[in-house]
Amino acid sequence: MSRVARSAAMTAAVDAEARAHLLRRDRQEDLCFALWHPSCGATRLTAVIERLILPLAGERNVHGNASFEAAFLERALSEAAAAGGGLALLHSHPLGRGWQGMSRDDIAAEQGNAGAVFGATGRPFVGLTLAGDGSWSARFWERSAPRTYPCAWCGTVRVVGDRLTVHYNDQLAPAPRPTGAQMRTVSAWGEAAQADLVRLRAGVAGGGSVGGLIAEAFVRTGFEDVALIDFDHVEEHNLDRLQYATRDDIGKLKVEALAAHLKPRATAAQCRIDPIAAAVYEEDAFRKALDCDVLASCVDRPWGRHVLNLIAYAHLIPVVDGGIRVRTNRLGRLTAADWRAHIATIGRPCLQCIGQYDPGLVQTEREGNLDDPWYIEGLPDDHPLKSRQNVFTFSMACASQQMLQMLAMTIAPLDQPNPGAQLYHFVGGFMEPHVYGACHAECLFPSLIARGDSCGVTVTGKRPSSMAAGQSMATLPG
Ligand SMILES: [Zn+2]
Ligand SMILES: [Zn+2]
Repeated sequence: MSRVARSAAMTAAVDAEARAHLLRRDRQEDLCFALWHPSCGATRLTAVIERLILPLAGERNVHGNASFEAAFLERALSEAAAAGGGLALLHSHPLGRGWQGMSRDDIAAEQGNAGAVFGATGRPFVGLTLAGDGSWSARFWERSAPRTYPCAWCGTVRVVGDRLTVHYNDQLAPAPRPTGAQMRTVSAWGEAAQADLVRLRAGVAGGGSVGGLIAEAFVRTGFEDVALIDFDHVEEHNLDRLQYATRDDIGKLKVEALAAHLKPRATAAQCRIDPIAAAVYEEDAFRKALDCDVLASCVDRPWGRHVLNLIAYAHLIPVVDGGIRVRTNRLGRLTAADWRAHIATIGRPCLQCIGQYDPGLVQTEREGNLDDPWYIEGLPDDHPLKSRQNVFTFSMACASQQMLQMLAMTIAPLDQPNPGAQLYHFVGGFMEPHVYGACHAECLFPSLIARGDSCGVTVTGKRPSSMAAGQSMATLPG
């Protein structure tokens, strides 16, 4: 299992720009600086690279090894300090393959300047190496005592775009050996893809029918680290849809019942399942979500979706979202059942722009009014917050569609990571043409990309008092 306490993350655009600069045609090493922001999870600190600071003429020397002039470091430091960010040094090993170690010169350039960088920015100096095969490796130089800056290796470097690519430090996040229980899975896409896939730390926000199935898909596929986030309890009217619950579970926390169900079904040699009895918008659960590499959004309310949407863009953690909508006519007969699946990530439109939540209702929910029966009563009959119909089979289909989206983004068979946003109609039995697009021009989220904890938007808060422990308001299919 992974011991990843440090990570670095960047968008595919930053990765492409860095490759173009650092992997030279003449095969010599090169370097540049970058501005980063912290993304503080409960157990993992990520340096989210916002942008590169490329050298101007005369600021660095390329001579087999590359070195920088003091003026380049000073300019980069003042840019980072002005932006309230940290500073990273990026350099290339053109002949390297995979995760890279450091030469004596590398250590001198990074550790030797860690004090100056910490003094100017208040943050550890971060070093990244790009190997000739496109693999990244990274480390933090963290102050442990006066004038002492030891190296803390990252466990992963994540590149986030249409595709999610994670570069692993095999020392801290060793590739697991496939188990006998995973033979059929591994033979579908090969050991290398399996090792990259199951080392992802997965989070499931919402332990209802869709979340329960997605969590089971993760642990059966062989994922080693799965976080479950939900504050709700199992009730009798959930039993037609929760694959993990029986009558004996009524009254238990959903995440506890789900974790107990998943443990014997995990196929990894070691699997850590972390039940978190909180809403994703509560600070502690939000920080646990920031420990993840990929998140499944199985919440139906606007505040949770809003928080996950921010995480996708500011913290570079892709959010695999979906939803089910069922309609009946005045006679109570089924007229429509639709489910959708899509991923909020860099290069794709956000959950707000595709209409998955109404930002106006986020504040209503924060104030506790979504739990007010009078408020719900006053909504139009076809409002998604009012519709309570759902069926196990619809949940299975939606969970499956969300997992297919996740697999396409990570495995990218035939280099096709993005099937587009999908909407399926049960009545009529057809999938709408897949939608590709971008955020609206006035959307806030593109301006928050890779800003991490420095994004300036606070999305967490206390759970409304009417949702206090033990009292669950099942206004939605769960
Ligand atoms: Zn080097
Ligand atoms: Zn948007």
